[in-house]
Amino acid sequence: MSFRRRGSSGSTIWKRRRSYQLRVSKRRLPKWLSEHLRRRKNRDAVRKRDGDNCWSCGYPMRFGGPPFNTRRSATIEHVLAQANGGTDDLDNLRLCHKGCNRHLGTNPPEQKERMRPRRV
Ligand SMILES: [Zn+2]
Repeated sequence: MSFRRRGSSGSTIWKRRRSYQLRVSKRRLPKWLSEHLRRRKNRDAVRKRDGDNCWSCGYPMRFGGPPFNTRRSATIEHVLAQANGGTDDLDNLRLCHKGCNRHLGTNPPEQKERMRPRRV
């Protein structure tokens, strides 16, 4: 009696959990994860085209590894800012330090071109 009850309830839970897991794995990736992967794909593509140096100041970039989130961290700069209707086309993307990126802000492309320190 007790054996049968334990056995049947156990298999029911196992089946439910299994079907639940299958449903989760077939769903789309969470938004933040797909966003992250898309950005990293863009960054790698730009890096392959432009090399490892900052578009703005010409100094090398930090890719991965601690400390994260410094002014030297690699970011993607939109030459025509997204706020002004810029797209994720590779033509519009440059590798930039986080600090340089913030410095350039959402200025129009011509002004960014003038703001570039070109220290190299
Ligand atoms: Zn820079």
